[in-house]
Amino acid sequence: PEAITVQELANRMAERGGEVVKTLMKMGVMATITQSIDADTAELVVEEFGHRSKRVSAQDVEIGLRGSADDDALLRPRAPVVTVMGHVDHGKTSLLDALRKTDVAAHEAGGITQHIGAYQIEVPSGDKITFLDTPGHAAFSEMRSRGANVTDIVILVVAADDGIMAQTIEAINHAKAAGVPIIVAINKIDVPGANPNKVKQALLQHELVPEDMGGDVICVEVSAKTRQGLDNLLDILLLQAELLELKANPERNAEGTVVESKLEQGRGAVATVLVQRGTLKVGDIFVAGAESGRVRALLNDRGERVESAGPSVPVEVLGLSGTPEAGDDLVVVEDEARAREIASFRADKKKTATMATQGRGTLEQMLSAI
Ligand code: GDP
Ligand code: MG
Repeated sequence: PEAITVQELANRMAERGGEVVKTLMKMGVMATITQSIDADTAELVVEEFGHRSKRVSAQDVEIGLRGSADDDALLRPRAPVVTVMGHVDHGKTSLLDALRKTDVAAHEAGGITQHIGAYQIEVPSGDKITFLDTPGHAAFSEMRSRGANVTDIVILVVAADDGIMAQTIEAINHAKAAGVPIIVAINKIDVPGANPNKVKQALLQHELVPEDMGGDVICVEVSAKTRQGLDNLLDILLLQAELLELKANPERNAEGTVVESKLEQGRGAVATVLVQRGTLKVGDIFVAGAESGRVRALLNDRGERVESAGPSVPVEVLGLSGTPEAGDDLVVVEDEARAREIASFRADKKKTATMATQGRGTLEQMLSAI
């Protein structure tokens, strides 16, 4: 059922929260301003204040939020978005770090200290690749389950000295469910006793047939430590990306996905956002999950201020009302009223969902206490 907090109801009527609490009390409903009341009760309160009420479902509010599909003529090539997955300690972070160092501009930046959940590199040919550092497989599937399909290609990292492990299998399943091409990076090839053929044999059991065994899964032998095979891996990524013909319209209001977000002292709520269509600009008004805001500043993956970010570009966004969740959308809208309306409907919806789960928890506790 739909619900609204007393405070939010007061805000929408432009009445004092305390007055709404009093009115509720007269109706025999005891609620503080932070508590939620159901839609029927809210309607009675609205009438009591002499306002007209109109129930709008969250669905109505969301209509038209995301723009319609773009005309083919407006589409421009965009960089592939690549997610690195695999078993713990197989070298995901090392590989991401090593690949980042191949960026043609990385040296000018004087070393990389900034860590954001995503970065983009430019290879000597001028092509670009965006890498996502997912905090884990659970986060990846959680994002997907909420409709955020952010990745175009998955690199499955398998340590040659360890082989296929539990989280490797998990990663395979997530990548298959996402329906994206998998490139297997057989890592730690420098370690004595590393056995890439054994890894390839084991892949067969998970319906991944390597190219040299008559299948279509590309395996690349690499070492994040010695950098062996990294150029080969990049070439293969770019080739795969070319086959996918990835495109987006950069000339429209931005739409993207929140990759991570945090509260930072002095900076407030900061979100790393992957722009997927359009161009995000400083000054843009947006809704991001159940939060809203106006872009106060944009920072690239080196921590430098930028004025805008186009498709496949990850940026840190400052100017949020709070921290959205990984997998939430970020959509630029026309005005603040619209942004706040959508954000507040989503916040209400989230609150109702939380209350429902809490209610279930209590019931379970009650039952277990019997
Ligand atoms: P993650 O848990 O998958 O992110 O793995 P890490 O990148 O943290 O690597 C785990 C360990 O393996 C670290 O001690 C790395 O230094 C080491 N490691 C990663 N890649 C290589 C490699 O190619 N060769 C060798 N010898 N060690 C590696
Ligand atoms: Mg790691």
